[in-house]
Amino acid sequence: MLNKKVLILTSILIAIFLEVYHYLWILDPVIAPFYDVVTQQIPPRNEAQILKIYHSFPKTTFTEVLKTDFGKFYGDKKHLPNPPDKFLKINWFDRYKYVVGNIRISNLLCQDGRFCYTLKTQYAAIDPKILVKLHLLLVELKKSISINSGYRTPQHNIQTNGAAEGSYHLYGKAVDISFGDVDGNGEINGADKKKIKEAIEKIDVKYPELCGGMGDYQSSLHIDTRGIKSRWAETKADRILVEKEIRRLTLFHDGQVLKTYRVALGHNTTGPKQCEGDSKTPEGIYTISGRNERSQFYRSLRISYPNVADSVAATKQGCKPGGDIMIHGLPNGFGWMGKFHYVRDWTNGCIAVTNSEIEEVWRLVPDGARIEIRP
Ligand SMILES: [Zn+2]
Repeated sequence: MLNKKVLILTSILIAIFLEVYHYLWILDPVIAPFYDVVTQQIPPRNEAQILKIYHSFPKTTFTEVLKTDFGKFYGDKKHLPNPPDKFLKINWFDRYKYVVGNIRISNLLCQDGRFCYTLKTQYAAIDPKILVKLHLLLVELKKSISINSGYRTPQHNIQTNGAAEGSYHLYGKAVDISFGDVDGNGEINGADKKKIKEAIEKIDVKYPELCGGMGDYQSSLHIDTRGIKSRWAETKADRILVEKEIRRLTLFHDGQVLKTYRVALGHNTTGPKQCEGDSKTPEGIYTISGRNERSQFYRSLRISYPNVADSVAATKQGCKPGGDIMIHGLPNGFGWMGKFHYVRDWTNGCIAVTNSEIEEVWRLVPDGARIEIRP
């Protein structure tokens, strides 16, 4: 009897440890200052210092990386024929080394604990050119910047919203910069992004060997050192189609399909919404009329139901039309369910996707976009 209890308790403790272990990066702000005190490392301020630090990390080959347990991240065969040729070997404490100004090597490593974080050595392909480019950017801006994403393992890249399949992040030639208050006027807005973009344009002209792509996203700016100039902006959706019968939501831009998602609907699946409380999903043409970042269902986009015709029809039936129809994520605390949520239609008339999907829909769909909901 006692043994059984001990066994269960041990299993629970192991499960908790494994869960925490993968999210140790949360401790970065605690450990990083401690590292500085011990090593008294000074943030690198010029190209020579940056390259010296880059060369201080041991290097290894892709074949060597594959022999470690890291190998399992190379799940995507498409990238196998042409993997990065050189990887940095980064030990637990060396993660906190500064590489460019106040940017630490940890800021450029694969950021997703689920796929690439271990207590042991971490491997990362990082091109010294991108480090130099970041340095020139800091010099140009005279402000510090922060990095959203640097090197990505193929597995991590697949899980990253909006990432290109053969992304330069896989080769350590790209970083995504989050724009803080670069112009120092006390607020973060389009002007800050513009300032970084202008700085990159200057650098790409002045240093052709560092020239590359620049992608304009809602919350970050992608830059890389691919060798040729390339510019793009994230394509937004201008139309949403929901097909209730096949539980599908499709985003369109200029008639082209951008993305499709599997959805869960109102648990009463027969016909369009007519009355408050009937738990049906409406049918018809509406618009996206607002959004809530702190929804009970992670994030939500409001659908303009009821329209005049819906209200008239409800009155005829002697009921209220209801409202609060949203495209939303999973109930707070249930995000872990992920794709399992659509096993059954569980909403009160809303259209539900997973939390990572609603983040993407949130980003791609502007307010005022037209939404058509078909039976
Ligand atoms: Zn990027």
